[in-house]
Amino acid sequence: MLMRRPEEECGIFGVFGHPEASNLTYLGLYALQHRGQESCGIVSSDGANLHAHKSMGLVADVFGNQEIFKSLPGNSAIGHVRYSTTGSSVIKNVQPIMVDYSRGSISVAHNGNIVNAQIIKDELEAYGSIFQTTMDTEIIVHLLATSKASSLLDRLTDALQRLQGAYCLLFLTETRMVAVRDPNGFRPLCLGKIGNGHVVASESCALDLIDAEFVREIEPGELIFIEKDGTVQSHFPFKKVTPTPCIFEFVYFARPDSTIFGKNVYSVRKEQGRQLAREHKVDADIVIPIPDSGVPAALGYAEESGIPFELGLIRNHYVGRTFIEPQQSIRHFGVKIKLNPVREVLKGKRVVVIDDSIVRGTTSRKIVKMLRNAGAKEIHVRISSPPTSYPCYYGIDTPNRKELISSSHSIDEIRRYITADSLGYLSEEGLMQSVGIENTFCTACFTGGYPVKFPRLAQEPQLALFDKELEEQ
Ligand code: AMP
Repeated sequence: MLMRRPEEECGIFGVFGHPEASNLTYLGLYALQHRGQESCGIVSSDGANLHAHKSMGLVADVFGNQEIFKSLPGNSAIGHVRYSTTGSSVIKNVQPIMVDYSRGSISVAHNGNIVNAQIIKDELEAYGSIFQTTMDTEIIVHLLATSKASSLLDRLTDALQRLQGAYCLLFLTETRMVAVRDPNGFRPLCLGKIGNGHVVASESCALDLIDAEFVREIEPGELIFIEKDGTVQSHFPFKKVTPTPCIFEFVYFARPDSTIFGKNVYSVRKEQGRQLAREHKVDADIVIPIPDSGVPAALGYAEESGIPFELGLIRNHYVGRTFIEPQQSIRHFGVKIKLNPVREVLKGKRVVVIDDSIVRGTTSRKIVKMLRNAGAKEIHVRISSPPTSYPCYYGIDTPNRKELISSSHSIDEIRRYITADSLGYLSEEGLMQSVGIENTFCTACFTGGYPVKFPRLAQEPQLALFDKELEEQ
């Protein structure tokens, strides 16, 4: 069985040592819904057995019935929200994965992408492993089960050392919870406390919702064991590398109220807007965001430029993210369903429109047209990140190169395509200054510099493009 082209957006959450573990996990997943809207699941432990409930759909729909929590008993639970591309949107691929093996039961929730998954999988299959899903996560449980080491820590170390790529993982056994962040620390993961219990979450906004205290971020390369007696042990079993957390978490993916990689996301985005105003000034009457992703940067742009901030587009909050729709035809339609212009704000105005990124260019093109129809006199598009020219292989769902408009078009060609009067992107240096952390980041989506190389998989037709991109590096 071939593994899907690696691109997955996810959120993970876990509670250990709290009588309301699965209910709290439900709330945590609710706060992380922006990280994946296609499916979700919770696995709980009552100390002797693991219990699961998972399904396609949004958290509130899947766990909308209180009765469900009766089937998720115990003081500990882990949960997962996931978005995946067409083809793999099937129930068997919904996480957390739960398996019984010679040492008992174990469950795992994963955020990220393992870039050498196919190679490991081929190897395991050659030795007789049978895979149930097409998820790269499943190889982890196979590696765990086949490890000869005796302690769970050693078996985990054995298994995880084989992995290349991005992984934040939460494991739940009958009696323990384990949290892991890969050595590059691509995705965020934090540790919290609630009463005597412990919480682990992809983003700190999930801790806020359940009134958990933020303790600290889990470090790149750190593996944390949370034991039955409540002790937390930290291990660093991997070879140390320079961490490269994902810059796109700041640009788009994380929620603005979260603190990730040591910095509040909202303040970074606002600073990106300020910097954008310094780099791409324009004479205009109003600054408007593309809601919601452009709001903090538009506030920053307005503040720095002195041009008034207005809401020229109103969002219908009951529509999912347009980008998330699996069909191009639905996506085209989606912008109209989601956003409507406020004619009174726009009529006769020179408008600066702020968004965080242009991916295929479809959204910006539709919006510029919409604004013009609503009477805007000039439209100046400003993007609070550099052009997104390269796909992500570490857990953000970006399309392949040929669909990324900036991989094959100059800025002026993009401007013409989206029919804007002017277009300006934040520079790479400007973005780094806005983040303001003395740290290296993964900026592969802007630069093509992939910090973890992926192996060649020439014989796999689905990955041919993937391979071509490698050759271009
Ligand atoms: P597009 O129409 O393809 O150019 O998409 C651009 C829009 O998608 C922007 O408004 C971004 O905020 C949003 N966006 C960027 N990256 C992602 C992503 N990984 N998932 C969902 N939406 C995204």
